[in-house]
Amino acid sequence: MNENTTVVSRCDATSCRFNSDRTCTAGQIEVSMTAQKAECLTFTPRSDAQGTQPSAQQ
Ligand code: SF4
Repeated sequence: MNENTTVVSRCDATSCRFNSDRTCTAGQIEVSMTAQKAECLTFTPRSDAQGTQPSAQQ
């Protein structure tokens, strides 16, 4: 058992342009590990999709 997986098998950041059906297509990413969570530094918001970015609107 190796827990140091280097390939992301599943990602819930569907607003990321590299996310295809919850699969990361970036190939190589940088992840920042903190005590409680992993934060992807390669995350890039989609520019071609609408409604995926949370925004405050009234
Ligand atoms: S680049 Fe990061 S945030 Fe984007 S799909 Fe891959 S793992 Fe997720």
